Amino acid sequence: MNSQNIVILGTGGTIAGRACSASDNIGYTAAQVSVAQLLAAIPAMVQTGPVIVEQVAQIDSKDMSFPILAKLAERVSHFLAQPDVRGIVITHGTDTLEETAYFLQTVCQPAKPVVLTCAMRPATALVPDGPQNMLDAMTVARHPGASGVVAVCAGTIHSALDVQKVHPYKLDAFSSGDAGPLGYVEEGTPKLLRNWPSANKKAKKIAIEKIANLSSPGDWPRVEIVMNYVGANGAVVDALLAQGVQGLVVAATGNGTLHHALEAALLQAQAAGVRVVRATRCLNGRVLPKSGDMLVDSKGLSPVKARVDLILRLLK
Ligand code: ASP
Repeated sequence: MNSQNIVILGTGGTIAGRACSASDNIGYTAAQVSVAQLLAAIPAMVQTGPVIVEQVAQIDSKDMSFPILAKLAERVSHFLAQPDVRGIVITHGTDTLEETAYFLQTVCQPAKPVVLTCAMRPATALVPDGPQNMLDAMTVARHPGASGVVAVCAGTIHSALDVQKVHPYKLDAFSSGDAGPLGYVEEGTPKLLRNWPSANKKAKKIAIEKIANLSSPGDWPRVEIVMNYVGANGAVVDALLAQGVQGLVVAATGNGTLHHALEAALLQAQAAGVRVVRATRCLNGRVLPKSGDMLVDSKGLSPVKARVDLILRLLK
């Protein structure tokens, strides 16, 4: 191997999707084309330097599971430990990319770049977006000084902590909210606006050992998301409590507000030993804590990332 190797890990998604017609951008089946085939279709990728390719999974990311995430984290850790590996690119579906990004950043805390990329159109589209996204991801993975888990889509670099899918159809489907993107890739050159995600080595040690042996989804702590809305009540929380849920994230309204009936059920669940975290259902911003709060806030994490975070904390 050579010290400039980039590892490309395939997991499926629309980027590997196939439709019957080139003009069909939505009626496709995700995860049909291998990552090796995707790479072979982009000669410019190989020209950027040596690559190692591995298919870790082949799924539509709506079906992502924690055992697959654990396998992915294991492969990422394995390759990051090789001195001749410069960085990693992961092809992934857009639907749950933000959860995988947050999971890998928390579990692996990489000092090298781990770049998730994706597509909104299948590989068979008349004008697919996957090849340019892969090329841009490769550029970021080879960029001197790059580190941490990031996502690259539509010429934009997002941090794992901030990235969120915000559009079901547009090619530029992701946002970093109030924080803004980490940067852009312009004609093969990354333009950085702020720092790369930084590592926290302590978190890595705890989680990676724990997840190695969890091979079935039922082995993972059960954490569910409930939401506050007009007419909300405690029925769902009570049902989940009866089923032995271990954690609850509530997607609260505004600055963490909850219908009194839902709040009463959540406090009861918390008193019974369930870990409860309050996030906001607002797209931007965070729940600002105030004195007297009975439920902890998600520290700026969206509901889905707060859920991943709580699962990892319950594993500790
Ligand atoms: N359902 C697809 C997936 O997440 C959507 C996409 O990749 O854009 O795998």
